[in-house]
Amino acid sequence: DGPPAAQAGGTLTIDLGALAANWQTLRRRATPAECAAVVKANAYGLGIEPVVHALAREGCKTFFVADLSEARRVRAAAPDAAIYVLNGVMPGSGPEFSVIKAKPVISSTVELAEWDAYCAASGWRGGAALHVDTGMNRLGVSINEAAALAPRIRAENHGIHLLMSHFACAEETDNPLNERQIKLFREVRLLYRGIPSSLSNSSGIFLGDAAHCDVVRPGVALYGVNPTPGKPNPMRPVIDLKARVIQVRSVTRGETVGYSATWTARRATRVAVIAAGYADGFLRASGSTDETPGGSALVAGRLCPIAGRVSMDLSTIDVSDLPEGAVRRGDMVTLIGDDLPLDEVARGASTIGYEVLTSLGRRYHRVYR
Ligand code: PLP
Repeated sequence: DGPPAAQAGGTLTIDLGALAANWQTLRRRATPAECAAVVKANAYGLGIEPVVHALAREGCKTFFVADLSEARRVRAAAPDAAIYVLNGVMPGSGPEFSVIKAKPVISSTVELAEWDAYCAASGWRGGAALHVDTGMNRLGVSINEAAALAPRIRAENHGIHLLMSHFACAEETDNPLNERQIKLFREVRLLYRGIPSSLSNSSGIFLGDAAHCDVVRPGVALYGVNPTPGKPNPMRPVIDLKARVIQVRSVTRGETVGYSATWTARRATRVAVIAAGYADGFLRASGSTDETPGGSALVAGRLCPIAGRVSMDLSTIDVSDLPEGAVRRGDMVTLIGDDLPLDEVARGASTIGYEVLTSLGRRYHRVYR
C-alpha cells in the first residue's frame, strides 16, 4: 500500500473505470445531444493521455482544451477526434491549428476576421467554433454581433462548425441568470439554424433538456465532483489520494504546532506528521487556527483535523482521538477518497473541487487503474 519508501509524497490513484462510468452517466442524461469532454488543464490535473484514451474508448469523439499545447497532446492520443481550443487563436498561430487539426473557439469579431484571413490565405478549411456571450461577460461575441454575423456565416458555408455559449451559474439551479442565458442562446441559435450548438458544462446538463442543445461539454463531473451541489452526487469518485505518516509525536498541552503558531494544543496531543504539503496541492487554505477549523485527513478509518498551518512538504494531523498505537510511522492516511470526498476536501479549504483537482502535485506516485 503506497509508493516506494523513497517517494514519501504519497499515492494518487486514478480510477479510469469510474471516469468512463461518469462519462456514460452524463451521456445518457444529455442524450440525444452528443457528449464531449473538457480535458483542459491536463484533464483537470489527472493526465490528458490516460483520460483521453479512456473516454475515446467509450465513444467520446469531441474534446475541449484551453490551448494548443493541450490540443497537441489530445491529437496524439485521439487521432480522429474533434478538438476545440477554448482560448481561441492568437495572431500567427493559425498554421499550428492546421498541423494539429484543431478548431479555435473564436470569441471576438477581430479574432474572426484574423481567422478568416488565415483560412483564405492558406486554404485551410478545418473549421472553428463561434462563442457567443449570453451573460458570463468573459469571452464571446455579443448577441448583437452574433446576429449581425449570422447571415454571412450561414450563407458562405463559413466553416463555423459549432455555436457555443457558457453558463455563469449553472451549479445554482435557481439562479435566474440560467433561464436568461438559455433564452438568449435559443434566440441566437434560431439565426444559425443548421449549425450545431453547445451550452452546457457539467452542471448545465442537470438544468434540463432546454440546456442540452446539440453538444454538452462536461469537465469537472467526469472527474467525480458533484455537479448538483446540495443534492446527492450522481458521479462516482475518481481519485484516491494517500500520503505517508513520517512521524507521530506528542505535543504538551499549551504548546503550539507549526508555522506562525496558529494552533494550540488544548490537551496532551498526538500529532501525525504527513509527507504532503501545499507543494503537493494539499492546499494551504486547509490549515487551521485556534479560531477556525480547516480540513481533515482520514487516519485509521477516522476523520482527524489538520492541526495548524500546512507547510510546503508536510502537514500535521491531530490524531489524539485515535487509540494509542492506531497510527504509526510509515502508515498511509487518506487525503481524498471514497470516505473523504473531493467536495468535502474543497470545503475544508474554502475552495471548489476544480482547484483541488488542478492543484494536485507532481510528487505523488500516480497509479491508473
Ligand atoms: N466549457 C467551457 C467554456 C469551460 O470554460 C469549462 C470549464 O470551466 C467547461 C465547459 C467545463 O465546465 P465544468 O468543468 O464545470 O463541467
